[in-house]
Amino acid sequence: MPSGETSVKASKPAGAGAPLGSCFAQGLRCRDCGREYEMAPVHFCEWCFGSLEVAYDLDAIRSVISRERIASGPRSIWRYADLLPAAYHPRVDLGTGFTPLVRADRLAAHLGLRELWVKDDTRNPTNSFKDRVVNVALAKALEFGFETVACASTGNLANSVAAHAARGGLASYVFVPANLEAGKILTTAIFAGNVVAVDGNYDDVNRLCAELADAFPWAFVNVNVRAFYSEGSKTLAYETAEQLGWQLPDHIVAPMASGSLLTKLHKGFKELAAVGLIDGPVTTRVSGAQAAGCSPIATAFIEQSDVIKPVKPDTIAKSLAIGNPADGYYALDVVRTTSGACVAVSDDEVVEGMRLLARTEGIFAETAGGVTTAGLCQLVRDGVVDPDERIVLYITGHGLKTLDAVEPHVGPTATISPTLEAFKSTFAV
Ligand SMILES: *Cc1c(COP(=O)(O)O)cnc(C)c1O
Ligand SMILES: [Zn+2]
Repeated sequence: MPSGETSVKASKPAGAGAPLGSCFAQGLRCRDCGREYEMAPVHFCEWCFGSLEVAYDLDAIRSVISRERIASGPRSIWRYADLLPAAYHPRVDLGTGFTPLVRADRLAAHLGLRELWVKDDTRNPTNSFKDRVVNVALAKALEFGFETVACASTGNLANSVAAHAARGGLASYVFVPANLEAGKILTTAIFAGNVVAVDGNYDDVNRLCAELADAFPWAFVNVNVRAFYSEGSKTLAYETAEQLGWQLPDHIVAPMASGSLLTKLHKGFKELAAVGLIDGPVTTRVSGAQAAGCSPIATAFIEQSDVIKPVKPDTIAKSLAIGNPADGYYALDVVRTTSGACVAVSDDEVVEGMRLLARTEGIFAETAGGVTTAGLCQLVRDGVVDPDERIVLYITGHGLKTLDAVEPHVGPTATISPTLEAFKSTFAV
């Protein structure tokens, strides 16, 4: 079993004509003090305890990348391999990414908007955007030589780690809060890794995993390989731009749990400009949505505070229920500097958001999608969204995973006996 720390793999040299899958990532850099580190499964700066981010040779990428090169790549996140910190690895590939970006004219009409798009990430192998981060994290974990993978999860990450580990023949340990939706436990356990239900909330699970990551030579996707994991989220930004004909939206709305996805969407857009795939500067506004029952980032924004106060989650949007968000400050900063906003929506609004998206666009999203849709409604009501903007709404998980949330609210339109008369007397059609 490798002890992650010693198995550092150098990146391959870059150059024109480099094949897809070349790794232009140079190492890790502290997001706070800028100190640089070798490529290794470490996640915080030993100097200032800041979190680490992957650093790329953007000039080298700029010299090889092109829209044509990307278009000739696979219809998955790996068409953007030049901008990812790991090379494609078939062993952990389930076909993640290149999900539909659909024009949502009926939802737009309902909200009085001119141009609205929905990025439908329910269509990933395990039906959430987490497949993006896990696919990248596990490709990197294999490069580092790990044979056991693990995670602390609010549900979707558990599904994805268990599935990708099964595909790759890797051992897996996923840790989840014991009160998770039955659907999400089942859709993890089916992959026959180890599922550990922990008596506590996500923040307790996360603390435990930080301890376990020190004690076991395992790749914890969102602990010791988090810097690589989080880069997978950027593919949502790349796909959005490519699917819009290499243009950026004016305004995006994304759900926030730890805040990582939102910050990486912005990072993804900025990298596209930096490597010359789109014209800069990037002016996309970035807005974030949380459930009121767990809204530490949105609350700081609304109270115009610089302090994110941890909370005890109490919401049906369990996939977003992180009370102490690791990337909260970075997310707040992106929202503020791009002139976006953060909103918090009630659980009733979450359910209404799920139903609204389903009945206007035919997309069944999980509670997190209800948060995002209801968040957009709130942003429209608040006048934050300009009705003439080109808006993209990120729908990150499938509704079949959170049936409990809508079960009390929807059912048959009518129950009738099997006769023509019974139908006619019930429906005046
Ligand atoms: C994990 C998750 C998110 C966002 O998570 P971040 O921690 O903010 O990156 C969004 N939607 C769903 C469905 C998720 O599972
Ligand atoms: Zn530092």
